Amino acid sequence: MKKTALLILIVCLMCLSGCTTEKQSFLFGTIVSVRLEGGKAYKARDAIFGMLEDYERTLSPDIEGSDVYRINHSEANTPVQVSDVTLFLLREAKRVFVESGGAFNPAMRALSELWGFPGGLTRVPAKEEIDGILPYCSMDYVVIDEVKSVVTRLSEYTKIDLGGIAKGYFADKSYETACEHGVGRAVLNIGGNIYMAGSGTIAISHPRADGEFFGLLRVSDVSVVTSGDYERYFEAEGKRYHHILAPDGYPSRSGLVSVTVIGKNSTVCDALATAVMVLGEECGEELMRNYPDLMFITVSEQKTCSVWNDKGIFELSDESYSVTYRK
Ligand code: FAD
Ligand code: MG
Repeated sequence: MKKTALLILIVCLMCLSGCTTEKQSFLFGTIVSVRLEGGKAYKARDAIFGMLEDYERTLSPDIEGSDVYRINHSEANTPVQVSDVTLFLLREAKRVFVESGGAFNPAMRALSELWGFPGGLTRVPAKEEIDGILPYCSMDYVVIDEVKSVVTRLSEYTKIDLGGIAKGYFADKSYETACEHGVGRAVLNIGGNIYMAGSGTIAISHPRADGEFFGLLRVSDVSVVTSGDYERYFEAEGKRYHHILAPDGYPSRSGLVSVTVIGKNSTVCDALATAVMVLGEECGEELMRNYPDLMFITVSEQKTCSVWNDKGIFELSDESYSVTYRK
């Protein structure tokens, strides 16, 4: 009896002082890990993973019956009924597609498949193969009807892949869920798209030194998203080919090796990180200036680093790189 009372007391004290829980899982072809402290941390953790599993079933291009799978396998010019989350992400994606002059383009799945990135059987396609489908790999060939909740692709070569924006959305939704459960502090890492609830330090991966940090960010209730050429790539004849494609259908060669975006809206940060990777510093400047609330850290092949819309939260770890603060 005494032991039971003691156990109950310990559980009550733990809950009063705030519970802590961690979980890691493999979702979206990547690692998702969460650490939550305080409030209803356990409930929040389960709600987050349940939600993420639902999103995977709805948005994965590889799961038969998902919205994206059904769009990609539909007859051209035939509307496909989709859920609200798919409509929302396609609308956001199309907005950034237009704003970035086509640098952010989630309609390039058929090109990614030519390069073999989705299945891992990578190769360098012939130029004719790329040029043959390139004109159809555009969001101009994706018609979104929000009233009827349908999406229509105008060509069989037009295929969707929301991998450049969806993990940001998942991070936003995970943060919202944590807040709804009164969680005081959380680190929500959705395959490298991080949302920090409360305050803490986030390390940015080094784009050219595996397992090392490039810099540190002291953040509070904000998302940190990085796009780079160093995680999904292959080498052929001494050349590196990575998974972010430029409007010519080839991996982007903008001179940037990584772009980190820090801001409250992780969905937008995710899309912009990919867009700026493609555009590079010079062509991406206008886009970055359009978002003064977001901070951007761009790292170049020439071992230079630029900080745009600085918020005074960045500390460089690798001092062989030079930093410029772009006012
Ligand atoms: P980001 O820069 O954010 O995005 C790059 C990705 O977006 C590319 O991999 C490509 O898919 C696409 N892309 C390429 N060029 C552009 C461009 N110019 N504009 C916009 N988008 C572009 N991966 C697996 O290996 N196996 C899986 O089973 C799997 N399932 C997934 C399920 C879902 C629901 C989602 C959203 C993604 C899934 N992925 C899967 C993809 C994976 O999780 C990553 O999203 C992807 O590899 C790249 O993410 P990133 O953050 O590294 O790069
Ligand atoms: Mg992205």
